[in-house]
Amino acid sequence: MLSLYHRIQKIESLQKIIDTEVRICKNHTGIECLQHCSQCCSYQDVNASPAEFLPFAWHAWRLGQLEQWFDDLEKHESKVCIFAKLTEGAWGCRIYPVRGLICRLFGFSATSDKNGRPLFAACRVLRQARPEMMQNVGQYLENGGKMPMIANYYRRLCAIEPGLGSELMPINLATKKALEIIYFHFAYAKCA
Ligand code: SF4
Repeated sequence: MLSLYHRIQKIESLQKIIDTEVRICKNHTGIECLQHCSQCCSYQDVNASPAEFLPFAWHAWRLGQLEQWFDDLEKHESKVCIFAKLTEGAWGCRIYPVRGLICRLFGFSATSDKNGRPLFAACRVLRQARPEMMQNVGQYLENGGKMPMIANYYRRLCAIEPGLGSELMPINLATKKALEIIYFHFAYAKCA
């Protein structure tokens, strides 16, 4: 079995592949979030797996911020993701480069129809505000264009982290669990 460090590297590679596919799709279709939207990060029911937040937790440990994030999560009572900045003029994600898979896939990925053809999983905001973009993406997919398939990426994540990749839970809980795993990994390494 690969070490935790190597498994995290593999998850990071997966993130990069998603980002590349999303970039290609954006370039071909012009699809883009509305400026300062952040609506998807403000939902109270975003689910994620602890595995997709292991790179974040590893990064937090390297920066000496792991315990601080853990304490913040303990105190965080809202169901909205702790990393979401939703104040006017300061929108965004506080951990953008190491955000989870769902954060990268949401709004820029596809499911499949009953015949196995990709079906754009558009977000509600864009569907209403930019119907022309929906058409562009539909056309792009019909012509064989690539867009990340959600199920494929979660399958690949589960292949790297079989238990932690398949366990979906509220995003703040998933993040906390990822921090715990990294914390105990290093605590154990110190004692061994
Ligand atoms: S981690 Fe960042 S991108 Fe993902 S839901 Fe939270 S604020 Fe949004």
